[in-house]
Amino acid sequence: MAPELRDAKNIVRSTSHTNPESVAVVGGSAAGLFTASLLARQGISVRVFERIETLKPDERTLIVTNRMRALLGRAAEKSVVNEIRRFELFTDGRSATISLKRPDLIIERRTLIQGLAEEAQQAGATVELGRRFHALHSNGRGMVLEIDRCIDGSREEVHADTIVGGDGASSRVAQAAGWTPLETVPLVQAIVSLPKDMSPDTARVWFVPQDTPYFYWLIPESATRGALGIIGETGPETRSHLEKFLEKRKLEPLEFQAARIPVYKRWVPVHRRVGQGSVYLVGDAAGQVKVTTVGGIVTGFRGALGVAQQILHGVSSELRTLRRELDLHLLLRRSLHDFQQADYTQLVDLLNDPAKQSLAEYSRDEAWKILWRVCLSQPRLALLGLRGLLSRRGSANQTGF
Ligand SMILES: Cc1cc2nc3c(=O)[nH]c(=O)nc-3n(C[C@H](O)[C@H](O)[C@H](O)COP(=O)(O)OP(=O)(O)OC[C@H]3O[C@@H](n4cnc5c(N)ncnc54)[C@H](O)[C@@H]3O)c2cc1C
Repeated sequence: MAPELRDAKNIVRSTSHTNPESVAVVGGSAAGLFTASLLARQGISVRVFERIETLKPDERTLIVTNRMRALLGRAAEKSVVNEIRRFELFTDGRSATISLKRPDLIIERRTLIQGLAEEAQQAGATVELGRRFHALHSNGRGMVLEIDRCIDGSREEVHADTIVGGDGASSRVAQAAGWTPLETVPLVQAIVSLPKDMSPDTARVWFVPQDTPYFYWLIPESATRGALGIIGETGPETRSHLEKFLEKRKLEPLEFQAARIPVYKRWVPVHRRVGQGSVYLVGDAAGQVKVTTVGGIVTGFRGALGVAQQILHGVSSELRTLRRELDLHLLLRRSLHDFQQADYTQLVDLLNDPAKQSLAEYSRDEAWKILWRVCLSQPRLALLGLRGLLSRRGSANQTGF
């Protein structure tokens, strides 16, 4: 059994630590529902408050590493719609192909959330829909949450010893408990018919630094459809770049999916005391997003596992390793963020067979291993990264990395 699934299953209440009797989770999406499940399995009374009225959140095509299976086990399976075995990288007429040893998973977010909600409920948590968190205060025994019913605006007060904010990038829980708001970037993707020359097990990535310091991607969700997206820095510009990119490739958008994603600039401590109670943050609310690719699903689950460990045991090894991982992605982002076309061309040219093999063997959720192996097999890649990092010193204040 994979170590994380074992951790998630074996997480047990500590005898030496005082566990909370009641936990309120705000946000019934990926990170919040996984936290609810982990805590409810240990007999803690958990109520999840979600502002959406039905368990039908927006559909979204997402790509995650195989690590999601290790974390979620069966709950992951229904949401998997495709597997990716190869990445093709393009820049300025050059290309490189990386074959993956363990396929990446293409998942559908709505199905994932429905599966997680079912698991949380089976474990004993209640999921209360159409309930918007408004504010919190301490009442001497713990905390009181003010929750608005979306249907009629009426307000109820709910007692909890512990609150978990899984309410996304603009977390109201974080705001109410005094955390500094997170910076965000826009992510826009269009669902398109898959180009004829594209295999459904291959994802494409384009580095076009004049449009974005991140990249464009096209990930097939089936043999006929895929999601073509971009991460940008400002909303309207990002959408207009995507539209031009679609036009250039003669791809017709069938629908658009978009939202703002937090940018990881430094580790956000996940715990705060409020009076006699405790408040924790998980997922996007805590900025637990890999800033290289702006992927937040797997890291959000790891954050949820870490917070559950901390609530149950008072300490968490998962949070320590997650922090290390996110910091490493920040270092990589700093070295890539000012890359010009020539740097990307050099990067693609430098991907020799041993370097590609390292990228194939380890996933984006094992950045330390990738970096170490790639540096050994192609030291010039490390020098290129280092140059990027050093050249950032002058411009860091403008872009904030
Ligand atoms: C278009 C798009 C594509 C993406 N692609 C990928 C990808 O390929 N791979 C990847 O790993 N990540 C991807 N991401 C990022 C990923 O979707 C997020 O990191 C992840 O969904 C965050 O999950 P979360 O549970 O922390 O927060 P969210 O999914 O944002 O959930 C927050 C929940 O809290 C609820 N809520 C908010 N405020 C309140 C309130 N006051 N009261 C009650 N409920 C509240 C919301 O309704 C929502 O259900 C993508 C994001 C977008 C927008």
